[in-house]
Amino acid sequence: MKVLHMMKEQKGPHGTDAVTPQVAWGSPGQRILLKDLYKSTAMRSVGRRTFILGGLGAASTLAFASSARAAAFPFTLGVASGDPDSSSVVLWTKLAPSPLNADGQGGMANADVTVDWQVSTTSTFATLVASGSVAAHYADAHSVHVVAGGLAPDSDYYYRFRAQGFISPVGRTRTAPALGTTGRTLVMDFASCAHYESGYYNAYRRMAEDNPDLILHLGDYIYEDAATTGSVRLHVGAEIVSLADYRVRYALYKSDPDLQAAHAIAPWIVVPDDHEVENNYANMVRADNSPALTTAQWTARRTAAYRAYYENMPLRATSTPNGNSIQLYRRLQWGSLATFHMLDTRQFRDDQACGDGTQVCADADLASRTITGAAQEAWLLNGLGLKQATWDIIGQQVFFASKHTAAGAGSMDSWEGYRASRKRIQQGLIDNAVRNPVVLTGDVHSSWANELKADYTNTNSATIGTELVCTSITSTGDGTGSTTIPDAATNPHIKFHVDRRGYVRTTITPTQVQADFRSVAAVTQHGAAVSTTASFVIPDGQPGLNRI
Ligand code: FE
Ligand code: CA
Repeated sequence: MKVLHMMKEQKGPHGTDAVTPQVAWGSPGQRILLKDLYKSTAMRSVGRRTFILGGLGAASTLAFASSARAAAFPFTLGVASGDPDSSSVVLWTKLAPSPLNADGQGGMANADVTVDWQVSTTSTFATLVASGSVAAHYADAHSVHVVAGGLAPDSDYYYRFRAQGFISPVGRTRTAPALGTTGRTLVMDFASCAHYESGYYNAYRRMAEDNPDLILHLGDYIYEDAATTGSVRLHVGAEIVSLADYRVRYALYKSDPDLQAAHAIAPWIVVPDDHEVENNYANMVRADNSPALTTAQWTARRTAAYRAYYENMPLRATSTPNGNSIQLYRRLQWGSLATFHMLDTRQFRDDQACGDGTQVCADADLASRTITGAAQEAWLLNGLGLKQATWDIIGQQVFFASKHTAAGAGSMDSWEGYRASRKRIQQGLIDNAVRNPVVLTGDVHSSWANELKADYTNTNSATIGTELVCTSITSTGDGTGSTTIPDAATNPHIKFHVDRRGYVRTTITPTQVQADFRSVAAVTQHGAAVSTTASFVIPDGQPGLNRI
């Protein structure tokens, strides 16, 4: 397995760190050996935990924050890459020797810092294919977003950073195949909802061990709520509102070594849901007024949340926030194999219908209502007509297929509360004769597999697409393991459900998508095992689920 190979290359014969000379970084006087990097025990702990994908002790998660010597090591939040195309990828890191400092500046002084970066085809960096330097600005909380360009399509790369005399952990990334080619088999894992207090990030660790080519995160990467008592592990501070609050919350989450391992193994394509700002917000409408905020204060909070999101995610500059708005819906092309249409269903949606309740009322069908906003809807419908790849994959946040009880109860935060929006998108799939539409969903903290129906009230209606819903990484805890489909008679298009935490692993080829619903045995115990609860195949040209 590639991961183990990488680990071995970095280890000496007796378990000590290798002393293989590193390629000079352009300035000979600044040459650094790995043995110097790891001269402090605390730093060794941080660096190796971050780099090596082996088992780790839970107790050491935040140990480095208390050590003055360790505080000098600036790469405590790991590395990441994202939004690959066929010749480039975004490389991310953020300097934070004291990541949980309350001012959100991670222990960095008010000065810009030069960060050097390297990309190589090997984890030893024996030869470089790209390199450069970038300024990490205090105003950006010393986050950096490097676009490494001039890369070959459908290729694996390793990358690392250097700043203030330290070398970062090594990340692996890859480019997409060129348009007109399908490239190698694509292993893509997707996930959502990683409430820190609910448990350990076992699912992120198991994702990393899959050695995927690509990871999609569909939102609730952080949660905004205050520290509680008695949880598996605790948030820091009150409900987050200010820019400093959001920055510290990201630092807490990103300090987790299992999360860092998942980032380091593959490029991510991310979209947020509600908790990156506040629970169930709908554009400028909050679900409640707690904590009490004026409109101006809410605008400032959204601005802070989007800014911290950008700072902490491997996004392109096109997603740089502009005050209270951020461009996140976007299309990524994976050669002629897959098109990823990534949606933003929070920033432009109408308020939840039917009084934000749980009972479906007539308002849910109003044609005037939208979950995407008009511009994003037009963009998506246009994109579905492009048909540049075998698979049109719509990565988005909330439950898409119809789901309600016999008595008419349903989630007004899902597409069920925006039925006209759903109908218009589904009509777009039909009108454009989209060959293989697959909707990917998070949010609901349990796994589901659904067939999309032109008419959900008619059991004979044609299946026009497929929806795969990942469970949460941690949110709502261990789960019961039940595979009974709730309200199955009312929702015959729902084919699978399991109440466990985990993620979905997809294996995508020109002839089929295989989806493995991966369940971790527990989130309340660090290091729990993962297993596949069910697998389905979607054959090319035949939307729907075939259990294997
Ligand atoms: Fe969630
Ligand atoms: Ca959510």
